[in-house]
Amino acid sequence: MVTTSPLLLSLKLAIAVLVIACPCALGLATPTAILVGTSIGAEAGILIKGGDVLERSQYLDTVVFDKTGTLTIGQPEVRECISLTGITSDRLLQIAASIESGSNHPLAIAIITAAESQGLTLLETTDFNTILGQGMSGKVQGETVCLGNYSWLTSQGIVIEPHYEVTAQSLAQSGKTVVYLALSGELQGLIAIADSLRPDAVQTIKQLQDSGLDTVLLTGDRSEVAQAIAKEVQITQVFSEVKPEDKAQIIKSLQQENKTVAMVGDGINDAPALAQADVGISLQGSTDVAIATADIVLMQNQLQDVIKSIELSRATVDKIKQNLFWALAYNALAIPIAAGILLPKFGLVLSPVWAAVAMASSSLIVVTNSLLLNSQVAKA
Ligand code: ADP
Ligand code: MG
Repeated sequence: MVTTSPLLLSLKLAIAVLVIACPCALGLATPTAILVGTSIGAEAGILIKGGDVLERSQYLDTVVFDKTGTLTIGQPEVRECISLTGITSDRLLQIAASIESGSNHPLAIAIITAAESQGLTLLETTDFNTILGQGMSGKVQGETVCLGNYSWLTSQGIVIEPHYEVTAQSLAQSGKTVVYLALSGELQGLIAIADSLRPDAVQTIKQLQDSGLDTVLLTGDRSEVAQAIAKEVQITQVFSEVKPEDKAQIIKSLQQENKTVAMVGDGINDAPALAQADVGISLQGSTDVAIATADIVLMQNQLQDVIKSIELSRATVDKIKQNLFWALAYNALAIPIAAGILLPKFGLVLSPVWAAVAMASSSLIVVTNSLLLNSQVAKA
């Protein structure tokens, strides 16, 4: 019942309106949900570098995977060392390992490990030169060594006879990466290296496809190897023999087709593509540059967490929307009541004290709703 003077009444109404209209809940709606979302991620080993990443991740419709070190575990092993001239395969491996001592590429590590396990000592090497996504060059005992993929060696004027290519192709068709080695401009041998698929690669790709996302393979390796791996994981869209700078270009062209693209990669050569993608994702154990460039880092080193990241971002953004709805609904309802909409008909006014209670409850509702994300994502 209203018994106060008009001045007091209008003052009461004004204070109640001011208290109710304090936009606390609106202000809390987004940051609390993002805080809870990113901390759920952190607990699960998914490091998300900022709330905007969560917001962008909800729109993803395409996930692009690098091959070596991303779809594969990145611990390749030398399977065959084929000499094409008089050189012994031990000598071939020894020279290759010496040159690779200047690289930290997974293939380099495979070659060095193989040489060490055969008891071969590394030879003194000078003039190291890394050609990202292609190979290496340098000088071993005064001889120029060129080592890497087909396009790198041929670009150096090294002739690869067609019958050697037949051997290389059959190795590649079985999913092995072929590293060519030339000494003083002449091809000497091939090293076939194989890496195992990550145990969760097939399942991850399938789940992404089942939930309507496009999956793409993007690799610097030759097409036969790319196709062999793509077949195993059931990816149909494949880009192979892609140079590092062109990886970013391919991401850009997908974006120009109105796709929202995530790139999952591990190497230095993936960094431009990780930066170009709407969301760049790296796994723990990737190169420092890839980790620094990525928006999301999967610390558990599991591809499955790509799916978890997308789910988490969608759940977080849903929460933000719910919070904004509640905050707006509260204002839309409470402000007219505070302003005295119920006064003429029902003689009811909202006292400033109750306005304060309502205002605090709206903030509490928003914060509690954000915290509920914990149980919802845990269940999912
Ligand atoms: P991916 O894109 O699959 O991660 P990379 O771009 O790292 O592969 O490498 C592409 C190709 O370049 C390799 O398949 C290999 O043939 C060649 N290559 C790159 N770095 C080296 C290296 N250090 N030693 C030998 N070959 C290399
Ligand atoms: Mg890689």
